[in-house]
Amino acid sequence: MRKFNVAAAILGCSLLTITSFSISSANAVNKKISSIPKNQWKIAGTVKGEGDVSKKFSIGPSNLKALKMGEDMKFELKSNDHNLHYSLKIPVKKDAKGGVLYQYQSSGEEEAGYFRVEKQTYDAKNDSISAEVSGGGNFIVYTQDATLESPNSLAPDTTAPSSKIASATTSTITTTPPAIFYIPHQDDETLSMGVGITQHLDAGREVIAVLYTDGAGSVAQKILNGEVGSSWWGGTHNPVKEGYGHIDNPKFSSSRTNELKSALMQLGVKPENIHIRNLSSDGILTLNEVKQLVLEYESKYPKASHKAMSQHDGSLSHALSGQALVDLYKQKAISDARLYVSRNDFTRVTVGSLVTPTTNQAFRIKKAAMVYQAWNPVVESFAIGYHSVSTQFNSLLAKIQNRQHTPTQ
Ligand SMILES: [Zn+2]
Repeated sequence: MRKFNVAAAILGCSLLTITSFSISSANAVNKKISSIPKNQWKIAGTVKGEGDVSKKFSIGPSNLKALKMGEDMKFELKSNDHNLHYSLKIPVKKDAKGGVLYQYQSSGEEEAGYFRVEKQTYDAKNDSISAEVSGGGNFIVYTQDATLESPNSLAPDTTAPSSKIASATTSTITTTPPAIFYIPHQDDETLSMGVGITQHLDAGREVIAVLYTDGAGSVAQKILNGEVGSSWWGGTHNPVKEGYGHIDNPKFSSSRTNELKSALMQLGVKPENIHIRNLSSDGILTLNEVKQLVLEYESKYPKASHKAMSQHDGSLSHALSGQALVDLYKQKAISDARLYVSRNDFTRVTVGSLVTPTTNQAFRIKKAAMVYQAWNPVVESFAIGYHSVSTQFNSLLAKIQNRQHTPTQ
């Protein structure tokens, strides 16, 4: 807390006085501080680095068409100097009940996308986020409205004749509603939901798996195309020499989806219960789109159990499905929701409880993981799961567990 106050004090004072000055750090490197210039989002703060810092960066709108979140702000900190350090104070909407800063990341071997900036604090009193970021790039601020949209605008029309007929015909037969798993990318079901999926199947529940993005934008595509090396593969691919040629977006997506289907079938999900919805095929995914998808399933399968990734997830495309369930649960538009913590967030997000598989369930999860390292380009099998997140698979297989929590956690 003290740390935050000091940071806030520095930010506050810097706004009034700093244009550019030098400080001497302990290791005797002369660093300069400059303040963030005026901008449309009223983002304030400082930039620290070597040389003429004020001329080394700019702030402007982000034109990265990777993921859009409704009305939320998107901006870019542009600089060729990747050693610049930014201390930002970002105002958020007055009626928001919170805000989170996400930074676009596509380096390394992990999945590309918006990931939660680690060092940030939300100040509810002043409706602002204080964040520390290095290197700049594309950012998005995700806010949650304090006043939820009226349930009427989103809830399924339960008075519609079709629903009445459906409930009238099913009332005599006692069928348990299905468990519906919303999956952001082709691998999340095995990495983070495998125990939940197999447990529900073994309890006799119908399990429906809904993939809601096309899985494009993964660094694995660059790796397969020989643009980036892979430590898991042990080198850089040569698509021509290896005989598979360039992998474009549709081919990459369909190969990933084949991995998903094969993995889900190893877990025990019926092929007809694997639904490919690709909400983000145009690169834009909004919270409302995910909510509409959930409501569509709730309307088709009243009182279904809805399962998604945690709203606390570090990846924005994951967190969206969690937030959709949390909002709809609070609106009473759905009655049963569970959130799953990503393998990537196991050490950061510790709410809820750990679920452990039986020997048989663990065996099926291991088989599903095998699907993601299958390499056979002749039949368009490219081990995309392991090319993109091998460390997460290794961590899963070392100790097969899921972490799940309720919508109020
Ligand atoms: Zn994912």
